[in-house]
Amino acid sequence: MGLSITSLASGSNGNCYYIGNEQEAVLVDAGISCRETEHRMKRLGLSMEKVKAIFISHEHADHIKGLPVLAKKYRLPVYITPATRQNMRSGVDPQLVNSFQAYEPVFIGSLSVIGFPKLHDAADPHSFIVSCQGINVGVFTDIGTPCHHVIQQFQQCHAAFLETNYDDDLLDRGHYPYHLKVRIRGNHGHLSNRQALNLFTGYKPPFMSHVLLGHLSKDNNCPRLVKELFTTHAAGTQVVVASRYEETPVYLIGGAPVALNLNANAVPAAPPKSTKPTKKMEQLALDFS
Ligand SMILES: [Zn+2]
Ligand SMILES: [Zn+2]
Repeated sequence: MGLSITSLASGSNGNCYYIGNEQEAVLVDAGISCRETEHRMKRLGLSMEKVKAIFISHEHADHIKGLPVLAKKYRLPVYITPATRQNMRSGVDPQLVNSFQAYEPVFIGSLSVIGFPKLHDAADPHSFIVSCQGINVGVFTDIGTPCHHVIQQFQQCHAAFLETNYDDDLLDRGHYPYHLKVRIRGNHGHLSNRQALNLFTGYKPPFMSHVLLGHLSKDNNCPRLVKELFTTHAAGTQVVVASRYEETPVYLIGGAPVALNLNANAVPAAPPKSTKPTKKMEQLALDFS
């Protein structure tokens, strides 16, 4: 049994990722309205009946905007860390709130969902891997720089949603104020195309069949550029660029099962092929997503 995946929305205007099997599914983040989530799923032939839980990566509005209404309407359990919940501006029915801890699997029917820490300018940001019978799908967005948690989990994925937020030159030449450029590039900001490509070429396992590139900046990136850049280095992996305006098709992820290594201190198995250093820049304490 494989996993069906789609990006319902990806970008600073809203993020919502669907991962499920024949029986059940989860959403990672709920950053578009309930109505829009329903519309996009319906267009894809996916049913909200199958969705059994929502997992929240962090409290930025583009990841939680639709959460209160969606969770309430479908009485969906919401898995969120206490620190993320405390920093949310909107509330969720307390009866629906469940906590999770890094590297402790949460079982949703036959799906297992594991959260793990990442670097981003939020209270307690986590990424997720959703697994079923040894097929692993990871969601890697809103990451300032790939820490060892991100690298180790990326190496175990049959498919990955991977952030490609900005092109260095477009950000340089763009109209953003200097402090925002510094913040986006910082270790708690977002992944550039180059950083994401280094992760992809350095740590992509041979069994990764799909990479769905997402959270592209409207102003500082170009979907065509991203597609070309990654396709050149895909080595058999299908490259999809997720839109900030609409859903992607549904992709079925299968392959040979891989047991997840949940040792938080495990050292990534392979060195990156690129030794280009990631940019370490000053952090500013402004809110953005
Ligand atoms: Zn975001
Ligand atoms: Zn964010």
